[in-house]
Amino acid sequence: NLSNRLSGVVKSLRGQARLSETNITDALREVRMALLEADVALPVVKTFIAEVKQRALGQEVIGSLTPGQALIGVVNEELTRLMGEHNDALNLAAVPPAIILMAGLQGAGKTTTVGKLAKLLKETQKKKVLVVSADVYRPAAIEQLKMLAEQVGVEWFPSDASQQPDAIARAAVDYAKRHYFDVLMVDTAGRLAIDEAMMQEIKTLHATLNPIETLFVVDAMQGQDAVHTAQAFNEALPLTGVILTKMDGDARGGAALSVRHITGKPIKFIGVGEKTTGIEPFHPERMASRILGMGDVLSLIEDVQKGIDQEEAARVAKKLKSGKGFDLEDFKAQMQQMKKMGGMSNLMEKMPGQIGQMAKGIQGAEAEKSMARIEAIINSMTPLERRKPEVIKASRKRRIAAGSGTSVQEVNRLLNQFEQTQKLMKQFSKGGLMKMMRGMKG
Ligand code: GDP
Ligand code: MG
Repeated sequence: NLSNRLSGVVKSLRGQARLSETNITDALREVRMALLEADVALPVVKTFIAEVKQRALGQEVIGSLTPGQALIGVVNEELTRLMGEHNDALNLAAVPPAIILMAGLQGAGKTTTVGKLAKLLKETQKKKVLVVSADVYRPAAIEQLKMLAEQVGVEWFPSDASQQPDAIARAAVDYAKRHYFDVLMVDTAGRLAIDEAMMQEIKTLHATLNPIETLFVVDAMQGQDAVHTAQAFNEALPLTGVILTKMDGDARGGAALSVRHITGKPIKFIGVGEKTTGIEPFHPERMASRILGMGDVLSLIEDVQKGIDQEEAARVAKKLKSGKGFDLEDFKAQMQQMKKMGGMSNLMEKMPGQIGQMAKGIQGAEAEKSMARIEAIINSMTPLERRKPEVIKASRKRRIAAGSGTSVQEVNRLLNQFEQTQKLMKQFSKGGLMKMMRGMKG
């Protein structure tokens, strides 16, 4: 899956000073596969990869371990940018009634969405909404809209299978004008696949209605196929927005990127359920996270940070081997490392025998707090005191306690802990520290 792939990417880039043409090519090949798995259409993936590549190569890389993070950052930013930086609301700035025309294949969710949007406009914007069905091929579809209208409490304009869609539209507009409706929503017939008669019919409807919003409704589960449908509707009609339905299923969201790329039109809402409340504004950054499986990506970045800590551990181990003592600076660095590695209680389970025992002196949620105090105490020490804690006698202890806002007892406790740790470090000094650190990573 995607996170496994990206995990590989991060590992392959770890420790490199900057993104080179070569390592970015390998990494992007993996991202490419991942996007395809998320159902983004191939031509869209190609364009996307090219853009990310261009941006990533220009990217300044700071520190020895940021390339992996930087790459994921670029991928995420670029995804968000491509899908539109922010959410676009419905445009209702028309001489009333503001007309909304729904377009899309059969089963995409047009009728359901009319119900959802009507409810939303009525409840959140206090709009007086009229709905009408121009789906004359399936009497059940007209009945479906009537029931939805009753359910959400908006008015339904009658139509039936004996009428022409165009005539229904004219009558509805006329009625809406005479009765001062703010919004008229026109539901239309879809087909199972693109066909010329359907396209001609909706084009005629569009010309008659001159709607302020022409919304293309597309099923997110369509994945790759969404591209062809989007292309056909975008060519036939001047679309103003897209609604991506069935995002409550296990669609990975790739269709969002594809449709946005093909039409260039904003995705305004996503459908998240069959009920009339199942609609949400579209948020590009959330969709990017969904496509990337951001929860997992974030944990990868943490893994990278653990990598930094391993380097730190190696540095300390080297220092010990070289005969130089383990001092309070190292102790503090270790504390900071532990904090980054996900909290003491979690860590303690992973620690081998003796060091686990020692660490049990500070437990759970208390651990975070005591670590902060330990850091404060060490910060209040002079460089000499940090290197040679044995010089810290009563008067220095009082000064350090006052400076760190702690007590002499706490300073004593820290010095005791440090002494024990120092002993342990001596035991581990023959390369054992690295082994211990690896043990902790679990
Ligand atoms: P239309 O042919 O385009 O009018 O599509 P419908 O509105 O009749 O919807 C087709 C099917 O998809 C119905 O069973 C709806 O309940 C279902 N549906 C529509 N939108 C959503 C959605 O956002 N989530 C889920 N789970 N189902 C949806
Ligand atoms: Mg319908």
